Amino acid sequence: MSNNDKTFRPQTGLVRAGLARSGFRETSEALYLNSGFVFDNAAQAEAAFKGENDSYIYSRYGNPTVSVFEERLATLEGADMCRATATGMAAVFSSMACFLRQGDRVVASRALFGSCHFIVDQILPRWGIETEFVDGTNNDEWESALSKPANAVFLESPSNPMLDLVDLAAVSQMAKAAGARMVVDNVFATPLYQKPFELGADIVVYSATKHIDGHGRCLGGAVLSDADFMNEHFIPFYRHTGPSMSPFNAWVMAKSLETLSLRVAHQSAASRQIAEHLEAHPKVSLVRHPGLESFPQRELAARQMTGDGTLVTIDLGGSKKNAFQVLDTLQLVDISNNLGDAKTLACHPATTTHSRLTPEDRADLGISDGVIRFSIGLEDPQDLIEDLDQALAGI
Ligand SMILES: *Cc1c(COP(=O)(O)O)cnc(C)c1O
Repeated sequence: MSNNDKTFRPQTGLVRAGLARSGFRETSEALYLNSGFVFDNAAQAEAAFKGENDSYIYSRYGNPTVSVFEERLATLEGADMCRATATGMAAVFSSMACFLRQGDRVVASRALFGSCHFIVDQILPRWGIETEFVDGTNNDEWESALSKPANAVFLESPSNPMLDLVDLAAVSQMAKAAGARMVVDNVFATPLYQKPFELGADIVVYSATKHIDGHGRCLGGAVLSDADFMNEHFIPFYRHTGPSMSPFNAWVMAKSLETLSLRVAHQSAASRQIAEHLEAHPKVSLVRHPGLESFPQRELAARQMTGDGTLVTIDLGGSKKNAFQVLDTLQLVDISNNLGDAKTLACHPATTTHSRLTPEDRADLGISDGVIRFSIGLEDPQDLIEDLDQALAGI
């Protein structure tokens, strides 16, 4: 029944892994939209609660539709196990809260998604966990922060919104030497273009809301690791604190994985075409995209990523007025802080996703008032270029 017994090439896994047909022999994955499960007799229930059989017990613990999504993503990632969560933030938070304790120490890259920064900067310290931020692009800062023992290293690469990279292989060695588990938020690279486990990560987390859903419908997240970490730390925490994904969302996400590589390949190629066009535009002062020759970490991008990703970040000479005017005159591109969607979206990080930071912290990260982040969708890139050109013509 399971298509997971044999090792397939990645694209076949995205369509077939985890498939477990019911007695009705449906073509598409079934949607088991139920919270509980029944037992044939009391002894079977007793055995299930003792973990002596693999029956489903309750959808907070596990659900057959959620399992399809988990198995499919674990197969793509090359991880022993995956657990799906209600949101990306539930994945980030539970991946660390499940093993950190009072007195522990976390070293994190400063360039983090806003809510991830809040967890490391505000929530963990409240529980007696010491946190230290470093410039993720600077290996010397990692080395100095990890010269003392640590319990977790947390980072995203490429980062939001400036697309800065962390040298995952180098930092993972320092993390190991310091006794820390390395947790990588791999959303911007997607599971296709960066394989953190091959570069030494211990735990990989996703917001499945982004490229994995890819159509702006459902929130979701995922945590992937080896079986030891899952069984010892993550699963007990997950079962008893309840960040589980809904079966409906898992069904949408599992179906979306079937087309993930087709969508992301189109978006990534279009994003490079648009980045090259914008780089040649006289009104754009800076373009960030890992595929450009001018990308400051081009060599590292080539070493640890197999594709560019789907984001393009530009600066309009630090001018908020110009950035707002471009956003307000775009006709096709929508203003939204989401990303990875089929629709091309643009946001002004300084006044939205990164408005909570101080102006000094934003300046440290290169997020000027003229920065716009584009998430390139599935439209024809030529229409996007024409829309960008007409908007830029007005400034
Ligand atoms: C969106 C995002 C998250 C949070 O995910 P949600 O699904 O919105 O909870 C975390 N990290 C990164 C890099 C993201 O882009």
